[in-house]
Amino acid sequence: MNINSSFSHKKQEPENSVLYIVGTPIGNLNDISLRALNILENVSLIACEDTRQTKKILSKFQIKNTLFSFNEYNSSKRIPKIFYDLKAGKSIALVSDAGLPSICDPGEDLIKKARLNGFKIICIPGPCAALTALVSSGMPSSKFIFFGFLPKKKKDRQILLEEISKSEKTCILYESPHRLKKLLKELKDYCGCEREIQIFRELTKKFEEHIGTNIEMILKFFEDKEVIGEITIVINGIKRENSPEFDKFELKKELNDLINAGLSLSAASKYLAKKKGVQKSIIYNLY
Ligand code: SAM
Repeated sequence: MNINSSFSHKKQEPENSVLYIVGTPIGNLNDISLRALNILENVSLIACEDTRQTKKILSKFQIKNTLFSFNEYNSSKRIPKIFYDLKAGKSIALVSDAGLPSICDPGEDLIKKARLNGFKIICIPGPCAALTALVSSGMPSSKFIFFGFLPKKKKDRQILLEEISKSEKTCILYESPHRLKKLLKELKDYCGCEREIQIFRELTKKFEEHIGTNIEMILKFFEDKEVIGEITIVINGIKRENSPEFDKFELKKELNDLINAGLSLSAASKYLAKKKGVQKSIIYNLY
């Protein structure tokens, strides 16, 4: 396959001694770009998160090249070798199993060190689940926060759930299917039942599904279903006009009354959150 002729406006690619960060499909293999195929076919070497996954794309497009594995476990050993090859004039493509390398995938460390060492880096942009979900959601997309996978450690997780509950910007999260229900329950506790949310399952694939519209409805939707497939979550930011600023004192008084009547802080906050349509964490923090 010779695709270079389509790029007459551009310098002949790949160039020697360049590290190419190549976006690959998040499901539908036809989403690969012509430029990405040209790079994958013509670079000296391809650093792959998993060579078996990359082979699937290459064989679909009848590309043969030299692959080696590059992942979080071997990156410290591989990076010096990559730099050695770049110095020797080789061009190297970095790919992950799906989407953009370094977005919750290996690459960040390599790219940072390559920059520090003065190597030329070129990104061949491609699909990314986070952005595909964001633009499909119809939620505000000019200001957003990407959280990736929430940390497993309880304290770190709580800090981010708290941040999501108060965020005025659209929030994007990744989650594995078997942990989705747990995360949805946590989101319900922190953000309340009514917060607008959409689940994007299997983006770009045959059984792509968009499930909305608020946390309560989504929990119901998955109640007696096994969650399968790849999942990206988009949560709308809170609106300033819904902020409880104006009735803060009234809310605080009600909260105190409930606690004095014997309710725990958590139960009282939960009750008032539901009654007033305000996030539980905001009420909790009034105490
Ligand atoms: N580098 C990738 C990117 O650019 O989107 C993300 C890699 S991360 C290890 C994998 C996670 O991305 C999945 O667990 C899921 O949360 C999300 N994801 C990847 N492909 C997806 C798809 N087709 N539909 C929905 N979410 C997807």
